[in-house]
Amino acid sequence: MKDKAISNLIKKESKRQTETLDLIASENFASHDILEALGSPFTNKYSEGYPGKRYYPGNVYCDMVENLARKRALKLFKLNPKKWSVNVQPLSGSPANLAVYFALLEPGDTLMGLKLSSGGHLTHGHKVSITGKHWKAVQYGVDGEGIVDYKEVKRLAHKHKPKIIISGFSAYPRKIDFKKFKAIADEVGAYHMVDMAHIAGLIAGGVYPTPFPYADVVTTTTHKTLRGPRGAMIFSKKELSEKIDKAVFPGLQGGPHNNTTAGIAVALYEAMQRPFKKYAAQIIKNARALAKELKQFGIQLVSGGTDSHLLLLDVRNLGIDGMEAQNRLEKSGIIANRNTVPGDPSPFKPSGVRLGTPSITSRGMKEREMKILAFFIYQALLGRDIKARVVKLCKQFPAKRFLKS
Ligand SMILES: *Cc1c(COP(=O)(O)O)cnc(C)c1O
Repeated sequence: MKDKAISNLIKKESKRQTETLDLIASENFASHDILEALGSPFTNKYSEGYPGKRYYPGNVYCDMVENLARKRALKLFKLNPKKWSVNVQPLSGSPANLAVYFALLEPGDTLMGLKLSSGGHLTHGHKVSITGKHWKAVQYGVDGEGIVDYKEVKRLAHKHKPKIIISGFSAYPRKIDFKKFKAIADEVGAYHMVDMAHIAGLIAGGVYPTPFPYADVVTTTTHKTLRGPRGAMIFSKKELSEKIDKAVFPGLQGGPHNNTTAGIAVALYEAMQRPFKKYAAQIIKNARALAKELKQFGIQLVSGGTDSHLLLLDVRNLGIDGMEAQNRLEKSGIIANRNTVPGDPSPFKPSGVRLGTPSITSRGMKEREMKILAFFIYQALLGRDIKARVVKLCKQFPAKRFLKS
């Protein structure tokens, strides 16, 4: 690369990714093949519209890429193409959610989602998000144990009659009862939208309950547990798909990023191969093992454990807050983000840290390493410097094979 400044920064970032442990639950390593698709000449092409109906010529191969991505997406999640449709053009998870609301709601209509402070996403109706400004947002929460308060969901749904009820979260360690959400949505005549951004790879791998039998629309990012490029997809029941497609383009976006679509197609191909099932299962095994080991050090976990790829640590009994925990971990090369825990008095001073296993599982770590990692986390949280040992562990599980040099 002739641009030495950027080339240097890429090298530095690659080294950073190799020499730290990434426990951010929404991050992962996309494969070399995916990076190759992202860096391909498909980035040069404009193709506003959909396969067979483009506003520019020259799209014969873009059409094939997009059709292949759509076909694979339906196949991966075992969906009948007569009943379900998928849009692979949303530029990321947030615009995907926005497109769904734009398709199914009028301005001022009501939507309902989990509060940010309980593990929901900004785009589920938080007041600083356009989703909480442009539409009337009702927010449900979790109970003292950190489990979705389904009684509150039901009560609020009957009271406010939202048009869309959203399930699927960003910081929720347990299984979600999609059936219950659907039943409540049906009682009040709402659509049930599942945002499976975090858990898509687990669902694809068959190790987390599938939401599809109980959903009208399912959105997902492609770069979290699904291990693809940054992007998103919207699955919808056939009767809604025309509205959704129109909301994505021309409603919200211009030309799709065809290089990303190619990368998504590769990620879907990879997720259909047998090793991916093992990978998905190992993510959860690792999260459970890490939970068990951390508890032995007296560390408290919201909901007492996990059914998924993530854990929520409550660090109050260590005499620190989430920010301090995040900083202490980072000093030792363990990258994890602060997070609110149920009952936190202020969302600005969260008392927890969120830990996820997708990235370290991609590096090949298993239960044995979780035991070591739990010790590292505990030491780091106590303020001890274990950076050298973290780097050593990183070297034993190199991330280089994912990174272009
Ligand atoms: C990550 C996430 C998103 C948003 O994805 P971006 O690609 O960052 O816009 C949406 N919903 C949920 C539940 C998420 O966790």
